[in-house]
Amino acid sequence: MRIACGAPGRGLILFLCIVLLPLTAVSAGNDRSKERLAMVTEQIVARGVKDPVTLAAMREVPRHRFVPLVQAASAYDDRPLPIGHGQTISQPFIVAYMTETIQPGPGKKILEIGTGSGYQAAILAAAGAEVYSIEIIPALADSATQRLRKLGYAAVRTRAADGYYGWAEHAPFDAIIVTAATEFVPPPLIEQLKDGGLMIVPVGSPFFMQTLMLVQKTGETTTSTSLMPVRFVPFQRAE
Ligand code: SAH
Repeated sequence: MRIACGAPGRGLILFLCIVLLPLTAVSAGNDRSKERLAMVTEQIVARGVKDPVTLAAMREVPRHRFVPLVQAASAYDDRPLPIGHGQTISQPFIVAYMTETIQPGPGKKILEIGTGSGYQAAILAAAGAEVYSIEIIPALADSATQRLRKLGYAAVRTRAADGYYGWAEHAPFDAIIVTAATEFVPPPLIEQLKDGGLMIVPVGSPFFMQTLMLVQKTGETTTSTSLMPVRFVPFQRAE
């Protein structure tokens, strides 16, 4: 009798475990907006990023959808994360700082070198900019393109190529953001900056710390300012 009574109980528990619990987990885990808002307050605003457009984009874009599934729980940690092929998605603060520095917004045309996961490109798009992004590893270029499309950032134009040469067909750009460490600023990128344009780029040896540089172009003159020490994956060249 006990066993007969217990059977529906077990069935109900099984139903709860198999059907309802995973559903709850999925809906609770999908959005992660609490973690994202905490990331912006504790890691980004706390370190001095103020631009409202940048902060709104950082609050909006679901960073956990840009990292491999096994990294999703760490997506809002205060550090870079591996995204496969030996590459990384930058620390949230660095993404916000670089975004704020190049002043994205509606009507701005921005070129990114190093699409990686597509996260920085999505942040620039969420800030209202027209975004062009180049990635040298074809598999990453493909997956980032699909991800951007799926998450509603289909307007980002992507290309699998060596970003050293920029994207001449769409030049000049209001801003260029390079997310891999280069020993010198590629001359084609300077050429493709608008008069008055801004470029942010980590410059230095790939084996040590690099310096995040702000390059400003005014007429024929370019000026460079050192912003902060950083560590990025190396800028690669096509064979
Ligand atoms: N911005 C990315 C992170 C980039 S990691 C994000 O938000 O996820 C740096 C990326 O630059 C890597 O994916 C690397 O493959 C790419 N890269 C390195 N050298 C490059 C080059 N010459 N042209 C284009 N992409 C390059």
